[in-house]
This record gives sequence, C-alpha cells and structure tokens, in this order.
Amino acid sequence: MRVIVVGAGVLGTLHAWQAVERGHEVVHIEREAEARGASVRNFGLVWVGGRAGGPELATALRARELWEGLGERVPGLGFRPNGSLTVVRDAAERAIAEAAVRRPDAASRGYKLLDADETRALNPALRGKFAGALWCERDAAVEPRTAQRALREALSASGRYTFLGGREVRDVVGERAVRDDHGDLHEGDAVVLCTGAWLGGLVRELAPDLPVRRVRLQMMQTAPLGETLTTSVADADSFRYYPAYAGPELDALAAAQPQPSVAAEHRMQLLMVQRADGGLTIGDTHEYATPFGFDVVEDPYEHLTSVVEGLLGRPLPAVRRRWAGVYAQCTDPSRVVHRQQVRDGVWLVTGPGGRGMTCSPALAEDTANELGW
Ligand SMILES: Cc1cc2nc3c(=O)[nH]c(=O)nc-3n(C[C@H](O)[C@H](O)[C@H](O)COP(=O)(O)OP(=O)(O)OC[C@H]3O[C@@H](n4cnc5c(N)ncnc54)[C@H](O)[C@@H]3O)c2cc1C
Repeated sequence: MRVIVVGAGVLGTLHAWQAVERGHEVVHIEREAEARGASVRNFGLVWVGGRAGGPELATALRARELWEGLGERVPGLGFRPNGSLTVVRDAAERAIAEAAVRRPDAASRGYKLLDADETRALNPALRGKFAGALWCERDAAVEPRTAQRALREALSASGRYTFLGGREVRDVVGERAVRDDHGDLHEGDAVVLCTGAWLGGLVRELAPDLPVRRVRLQMMQTAPLGETLTTSVADADSFRYYPAYAGPELDALAAAQPQPSVAAEHRMQLLMVQRADGGLTIGDTHEYATPFGFDVVEDPYEHLTSVVEGLLGRPLPAVRRRWAGVYAQCTDPSRVVHRQQVRDGVWLVTGPGGRGMTCSPALAEDTANELGW
C-alpha cells in the first residue's frame, strides 16, 4: 500500500511511522522545508497526569508506552521518563492534589502526594517556598525542536519513505490523490491530512463545519540553568486547566483564590521543562479570541518569571527565545481528536489540542487500525 501523509508535525510524522512500520510506502508532504507548526513550538511534555479519566487517559497511557519504545529506537527524540511535580503552595491547592491521589485511576498515572522535603529530595533545584507537590511518575518529555527531524531520519532508513518539503497540498484530486503547489500529483491507496491548525483553504473546502477551534499560546526559553531540573514542573494554576482535577476542591479554590489578574487575563498556568542544553522551556498562556495577536506581550512573561523564581528560590537565567504557537482543539473537550473521512480514501486528522504531543503516537495507531493498514 502507498500512503500519502500531508503535514510533517508530530501527528503526520507518527502516521507516516505507523504506515512504514506496517510495511507500507509513504510519501510525506509538508508545506514548509520542515515542520514549523505547533509540534516544534511545544514543551515536549508527554503529560499523562492532567488527562481526563476514561478514553483520554487510556490514549495518553498508550501513547506514553509508544513514546518510550520510540525513544529506544530513535535517540534523537530525547525521550526521558522524568515525571512531573505540580507544586502546591497552600492548603486549598493541596486539597486538589489530595483529591487527585484518591482517584481510582491514580495508580495508573503514578500519582503520589509529597510534602515539601520529599519534593526537594526528588528535585533539588526547587529551593523556593512551597507546601508540597503532586508527583506524576508517568509524565515524560521529548525534545520538540528535533523530534520530527529525528523520526524522519529513522523513517528514511526504511527505504519506503519519501519526504517532500516545501510543497503545499492545494487539491484533493479524485479518489486518494492530492496535487501540490508545484503542480505535481501524488497518488496513493490512502491520503491522511494532518494539517494542524491550518483550518482554512483546502481544509475548509473539504470540511467546512469542522468542530475544531484554534488556541494561541506564548512561550519562552532560557539560557542553561546550570543545574539539573530532574522533573518537569507545574504550578497549581495548571489544576485549573487540566480536566483531571475538576471537582469540589477545584471549585473551592476557584471561588476563594482567583488567579492574579495577569494570569486570569491570559488564562495562564506554569509548565516548565528542561531542554537537552540545560535551558528551561517555560509557559504558557491561552488566547481563544481571533484575530490573534501578531506579537508576544510582556506581562505574562513577567508573571511566569516571578512564579518560577518563587519555586526555584533563585533568579531565572536570561531568556533567550520567546515565541507563540497555535494548536487546533476539538470544541467538544471530551473528544481526543477529530478524525473525519472527507473524500473517498481521504481522512483528515486534527484537533488534539494541548495534548497532541502527548497523544500522537496512539492517535496515529488508532488511525492505522481503523483504516486497516
Ligand atoms: C505552545 C504550545 C505548547 C504545547 N505544549 C504541548 C505539550 O507540551 N504536550 C502536548 O502533548 N501537546 C502540546 N501542545 C499541543 C501540540 O503541540 C499539538 O497538539 C501538536 O503539535 C499538533 O500536531 P499536528 O501535527 O497536528 O500539527 P502541527 O505541528 O501544526 O503540524 C501541521 C503541519 O501541517 C503543515 N501543513 C498545513 N497545511 C498544509 C498543506 N496544505 N500542505 C502541506 N503541509 C501543510 C504545516 O506546515 C505543519 O507543519 C502544545 C502546543 C503549543 C502551540
């Protein structure tokens, strides 16, 4: 079988991976010279802890297992099972962590409630003030800037994979064929469009009423920290954004302790992961109203810096990079992804939202099983 995959973000690349693994030939087409969308702009967090119980958690856990296997075969992914600490500062935040460890699925996530000393023992770089943390052992990380490239290199070694960068797919032609903006036709037995948050143009023509919205985030990356951050780190504001923590304890926190105004205005949480070079990737904000800002604004960065410095108990290294990224998210938050047959032999897979880096290996596996590859 010959599979045409459009879009070289994590979702498209892992669809290509699934097809090649199952013995098929893949032509992989990307508008840019290489991936430049959400997949290279994210934290690289394989984040199991915050997932809603049920199908979303099952997908994330399967994906976590697949990432680990991929990491063994493709060292350039930088996969590491480093876990995460969601740090709590007071009794109201700690109550949410306590409720989390009482969940029936807590063991599958590797949740454990830690006091302040146990938190510091696990991650000695956290020398600031806090009351404890929710440890999630199943969380992991990869290097987003290099992951897609590393996977492509491994795919090329199969001899059944062709990457065509710098070509935008403009049309679906008949059944199972696409035409790119060089005028070339690519025919296959199946076409999978993993075109991310580009919901206009070709995608709008194929699926005008897509149940997906776009979300924009601001991020930054520092110079090397000079010491190891042994785990990924979140603050308790992340309880407000991840579905796993919904419940009366979160409602009580939201009622008693509104977020600081800048955090509320930009719908912020702290997530922080150390990169392979020692720098820290730190974010994020959530912007839902379009048109999105075309620039990055400074207030959220000042807020994140003060939160991180409070947890680390030291000044943040100089910020070296700032950027924004946009992902596509299913408007029904209980849907992990939107998979739609848009023409005979042509499928569109989009909308994994803020969990796309986490879940893509399992989402691609689901597509492959569903399509009988
Ligand atoms: C700032 C930020 C932080 C995030 N952090 C995390 C995280 O830590 N963990 C997590 O699980 N998720 C995270 N996410 C979400 C995750 O990054 C996305 O869900 C995921 O990357 C989506 O992958 P994708 O392949 O669908 O889209 P993309 O990575 O956007 O890739 C789509 C690709 O399709 C190409 N394309 C589009 N149209 C065409 C066309 N017509 N022809 C050819 N090519 C085309 C684009 O150029 C692009 O390269 C984050 C997202 C952002 C923005």
